[in-house]
Amino acid sequence: MDSKKDYYEVLGVPRDADAKTIKRAFLKKARVLHPDVSDDPNAEERFKEVNQAYSVLSDERKRANYDRYGDENGPAGFGSDYVDMSDIFNGSGFGINDIFDSFFAGGASGGARAARTRGRDMGMRLTVSLAEAAAGVTKTLAYDRLAPCDDCGGTGVAEGGHERTCGRCHGTGRVVEVQRTIFGQMQTQTTCPVCHGSGKVIDKPCETCGGQGRTPSRETVEVKVPAGVHSGQTIRISGKGEAGVRGDASGDLVVSIEIAQDERFERQGDDLYTTVRVDALQAIVGTTVTVDGIMKGERVKVEVPAGCQYGQQIKVERRGMPRQGMVSRGSLIAVVQVVVPTDLDKRQLLDIAGIVAERTLSDEDVATEGETRAEEEGDSPAKDEEAAHLAGERWAAPKNPFKDAKRKSRARGRGGRK
Ligand SMILES: [Zn+2]
Ligand SMILES: [Zn+2]
Repeated sequence: MDSKKDYYEVLGVPRDADAKTIKRAFLKKARVLHPDVSDDPNAEERFKEVNQAYSVLSDERKRANYDRYGDENGPAGFGSDYVDMSDIFNGSGFGINDIFDSFFAGGASGGARAARTRGRDMGMRLTVSLAEAAAGVTKTLAYDRLAPCDDCGGTGVAEGGHERTCGRCHGTGRVVEVQRTIFGQMQTQTTCPVCHGSGKVIDKPCETCGGQGRTPSRETVEVKVPAGVHSGQTIRISGKGEAGVRGDASGDLVVSIEIAQDERFERQGDDLYTTVRVDALQAIVGTTVTVDGIMKGERVKVEVPAGCQYGQQIKVERRGMPRQGMVSRGSLIAVVQVVVPTDLDKRQLLDIAGIVAERTLSDEDVATEGETRAEEEGDSPAKDEEAAHLAGERWAAPKNPFKDAKRKSRARGRGGRK
């Protein structure tokens, strides 16, 4: 395993250490190695190592992989088979380092910083499929947060210890500093450096959390996504954000819902658009097409009227997305795609050719009469029409292929009569 250090050695724990031991060892190391507090020039490097070791050993699956294969992702080629919930939220802005930064911000460092004892709200993205959004779904999310410390119950006080009013600020959490400057004396009020603004000090702080009352922890939470949810909608889970310092209120977890693109449906409001392919001959006479709906096992009948055109939209009411908090649903809108059949046999082709010829002949009679008259008058409106056709944006049907053949046969017929 080349130069990679042994994760157990990095944390200084035996290979059979339980989760609590690992966490405690990690916190102890992290606290002295954090670049904000350590003077060691290699502190950052070592802090990263400790972090990496902990992120593997604190995750049951990763640890099992590491123990078996020497790599947290498992044997080569196997890693991708696992679905790690945390991967889904990469990029949502809550890496373990961010959690550490806030852990330290409230503790060892930061005299001048404003005291913040209440936990922050945390944001997270949750992607659901359109079908899940339609039916409603409950999802389990795993995420890292600063949670109330188990060992001291969030108080930050070790067994036998006490919390007292801070002697430096007398419980106000703020101190006034007087500075002499060239402009005279300046008074500035800052957060008390002893109690960090809480107004209280602990004579015997909890070892696990260093007296903060909270520790980094991997949590799971159930998120109930309501039926008919829209993309961008948020669901607030009270108290599941960052824990407050020493038992102060926790922030909320704000889950932002994203709906994945669907292969068959495009949503517009509560309506669902889908494409239905209709055989050209069926489009001519009208037909019924059955398509799968958005709900599980749902079949939707789409009535295609006779003479249906390409792109025509057929609305099926109450077969779209459910309207949130209501029993009604939007519409399903089927957009017709007319498909010309290519599997007709000879007899069918001849039948159709017969119909086409029949229609063409009757058109031709009218057209020829017009043409003849135009030729006689020495004027050609037909040509102008054609030019307009070509210049226009609209697609124009090609010239009738039966026209020439027919003229010849007519000429022949006339000649025969003569
Ligand atoms: Zn104080
Ligand atoms: Zn504690």
